[in-house]
Amino acid sequence: YPKQLCGKLEAAANFCFEGVYKEELPWGNGHINDTYRVTFENEQGVKKHYILQQMNKSIFKNPVELMENIVGVTEFLKRKISANGGNPERETLNVIPAKDGKPYYVDSEGEYWRAYVFIENTVSYDLIDNPEILYEGGLAFGRFQSMLADYPAKTLHETIPGFHDTRERFETFKKAVEEDVCSRADLVREEIQFVLDREEIVDCFQDLLRSGKISFRVTHNDTKINNVLMDKDTKKGICVIDLDTVMPGVAMNDFGDAVRIGASTALEDEQNLDKVWCDLELFEACAKGFIEGCGGKLSQEEIKLLPMGARLMTYECGMRFLMDYIQGDIYFKIHRPGQNLDRARTQFKLVSDMEHKWKVMENIVKKYM
Ligand code: ATP
Ligand code: MG
Ligand code: MG
Repeated sequence: YPKQLCGKLEAAANFCFEGVYKEELPWGNGHINDTYRVTFENEQGVKKHYILQQMNKSIFKNPVELMENIVGVTEFLKRKISANGGNPERETLNVIPAKDGKPYYVDSEGEYWRAYVFIENTVSYDLIDNPEILYEGGLAFGRFQSMLADYPAKTLHETIPGFHDTRERFETFKKAVEEDVCSRADLVREEIQFVLDREEIVDCFQDLLRSGKISFRVTHNDTKINNVLMDKDTKKGICVIDLDTVMPGVAMNDFGDAVRIGASTALEDEQNLDKVWCDLELFEACAKGFIEGCGGKLSQEEIKLLPMGARLMTYECGMRFLMDYIQGDIYFKIHRPGQNLDRARTQFKLVSDMEHKWKVMENIVKKYM
């Protein structure tokens, strides 16, 4: 390919898209991959859209295994959705193969691309202040969980090894504090102590897995509500997208991460901690949706542990932000000094707030058992 055709045009020419190329636009608000909507037109003048994505190789080291996961899961979902009388082109991602039959295309610069059927007439919400939307998001992630309950989770590749190995993350955190390469640890002793004081929760899910009380499931691992496409007119959750981190995991963590972001009253980097708490109405909407969506596939034990998922995911995330601050902001991008510390503080504020509301949160999930 001549230099000017490298990249997205080269990629667009190498997938099984119908018709002739018309245009391409940057699409959505993703932070990880580069996403485009491409338009093709057939001989009758009918236009069709597709999603074309350049995959992030620095975060996902093995794009081939990653696509194997996505093909496995989406093919399985398509069969389930068809069997239930749903629309498999709209209710799951559909991978479009490259012209050589592979589920990805490697361009002449070594970049990996993939393509999906474009799901028309949807919206996705970055900010949620409305329990209805959080309910729909919880419901969609719950249904995802339920439809994949009989998928062999162990056959999935770990696209980010040790992603929610909280023990491992805790040990790495302690090491970073000891090394203290930027001499910042003294500035955040209180926050460090907050993490250390809660070591008892670090192993809770891993212990239960080891003792066989809970089991590995297929988990999404990026359960932000903007990873659910909602119907533009009905506002109902249609399709769970963004399957890069589909891996074996525990259901409580998917729920917990959705709550961490969805039920917080403030942005992740809010500096005024008085504005940050876990809104119980939003928590309840998310719990109701998730448990209903799971449709009886979760055990009583797992449902009881949902509040722990919220606490643990928020704690783990705060610990990661704090560690990154201590190490000099090398992982999470910052736009102002101290932003990672602010992010850590909002997470710890949420954790404390959940601890205060613990009994209420437990009673809420019990209502939907
Ligand atoms: P994140 O920052 O959440 O990890 P990402 O960079 O991994 O995002 P995606 O979430 O896969 O990217 O896609 C980015 C956006 O593109 C989505 O939020 C959604 O708005 C849109 N999008 C993705 N896939 C489709 C699709 N099949 N049909 C319609 N829109 C889509
Ligand atoms: Mg996304
Ligand atoms: Mg993503």
